Amino acid sequence: MQKDQLFTRRRMLLAGAAALGAAGTAGLIVAGSDEEGARIAAHAPAPAPAPAPAPGPQARQAPLKSSAFRLQPLTGGAPPHSAPRKLKVRTEPIFRIPEHGRQMMLTFDDGPNPDYTPHILDTLAKHDVRAMFFLCGECVEVNPHLVARMAEDGHVVGNHTWTHPLLTTLDRSEIKSEMERTSHIIEKFYGDLPQWFRAPYGAWNKATFQLGAEMGMEPMAWTIDTTDWDTPGTDVIIDRVESGAAPGVVILSHDAGGDRSQTVEAIQEWLPYLLDSGYHLTVPNRRV
Ligand code: ZN
Repeated sequence: MQKDQLFTRRRMLLAGAAALGAAGTAGLIVAGSDEEGARIAAHAPAPAPAPAPAPGPQARQAPLKSSAFRLQPLTGGAPPHSAPRKLKVRTEPIFRIPEHGRQMMLTFDDGPNPDYTPHILDTLAKHDVRAMFFLCGECVEVNPHLVARMAEDGHVVGNHTWTHPLLTTLDRSEIKSEMERTSHIIEKFYGDLPQWFRAPYGAWNKATFQLGAEMGMEPMAWTIDTTDWDTPGTDVIIDRVESGAAPGVVILSHDAGGDRSQTVEAIQEWLPYLLDSGYHLTVPNRRV
């Protein structure tokens, strides 16, 4: 993408953020003003998923909230849009989102990848669904057009380090470098700094929480792992999603890091199933 196009898109993003108002510009994962819901979402251990509702006309009648869950400031007034926010340092990541409106969230890690990510983006677009993508800086560097498409399609991107290391084996300066470089290249091609961070392998430690907070990023884990990284077969992936579906669940899939053709096939089956089952698939701080 040309630099002037980037600037144009950035201006559009800024205009959209301004239109959303303070509640849409910065802060913490919450649903409406329900701070208790956010606290529970942030601290509850990965739960046993509730039974999935039966698909069909009856499920479709379930009332849905049309809005994505919003972000609220943790530390007073909203900072300049492109500056990292200072956040409270957590001691564990967020495993779930609030259950209001039968919300679930889809997340895809390790990309972008030219062989798989476009197909996943196509499927999401076909069903008018937004998702989160946790990106590795070294993949962003060689696939910037896919990051630009994520922004244009309304998806939210997060920081998944530059080289996908096991952060708990690195010293603080190395962790900082992995995270900082990735945030900067995401800002360059997505149009804004990421507000979410996910540690590779889910390996968190005190330094990752502290550095993430300093860089304005909340730590986002997941509730259900599709195990697609182990290429267990398309049917197994579909079953993992459909049997694990429940309000508040965050689904983990991968659009890179190996052969992800099963992931690409599986989402074509399980995404319409979730929608037919009455789930509202949402993202934080949705782009407009
Ligand atoms: Zn990963």
